[in-house]
Amino acid sequence: TVRRVPLIAGNWKMNLDHLQAIAFVQKLAWTLKDASHDFSAVEVAVFPPFTDLRSVQTLVAADKLPIAFGGQDVSEHESGAYTGEISAAFLEALESRYVIIGHSERRTLHGETDEQVAAKVTAALKHNIAPIICVGETAEDLETHGASAVPVAQLRAALAGVDSAADVVVAYEPVWAIGSGQAATPEQAEQVCAALRGVVAEVLGDDVAAKTRILYGGSVKSGNIAGFMREPNVDGALVGGASLDVNEFAAIVRYQK
Ligand code: PEP
Repeated sequence: TVRRVPLIAGNWKMNLDHLQAIAFVQKLAWTLKDASHDFSAVEVAVFPPFTDLRSVQTLVAADKLPIAFGGQDVSEHESGAYTGEISAAFLEALESRYVIIGHSERRTLHGETDEQVAAKVTAALKHNIAPIICVGETAEDLETHGASAVPVAQLRAALAGVDSAADVVVAYEPVWAIGSGQAATPEQAEQVCAALRGVVAEVLGDDVAAKTRILYGGSVKSGNIAGFMREPNVDGALVGGASLDVNEFAAIVRYQK
């Protein structure tokens, strides 16, 4: 069996400016190093606003910090007349390892479609950035279609243009659990994450499915992370609110302790 290195990813959303980002990443690295965190056993990534990325990159490179970072979104276009957009080439130039794509806030507040999500996934992969593809059902979807149907369809659409050599990460984020304080149960997360691994197997093959990390997201905290991580198909977490407090985020990263 393939060992998947768990990934704990912090989505800062529109919080922390570049000066706060520097202080945060420095303190996170020190807190984890003080606790002798094994970064090769549990990978850590942060997703600051675009205006912070250069500062984070400079700090991480200068101090050789074992912390990955990336954007919260990316343009589906390569370059050109797209006012306000950020290209995958720019994120690649800043050494972003990952990029979040299709977060529910992008889908609901900015009307992002499955087709756009798929195009963004392709754009990221073209620039050697691993997309963290976010999928999840609303409370209404849950009631009418059950938990898996919508996330499964969203993932199938997002992988449409992906070839099997690609490195992708999937994040199952039930919309009703995001920022609500009401997380899914580990059993609910496991059920949908297993179905999503089935989609990866169907589209990209069993070998890729076996090594693809599938994260759970939605009101993850230090107090509930361990339950999710015990599930065989949950390979980490995408954390919003609780990623903004260094000590809380570090405690989530150190869920085994
Ligand atoms: C998110 O928005 O990706 C998220 C999981 O948020 P929260 O942890 O605050 O529910």
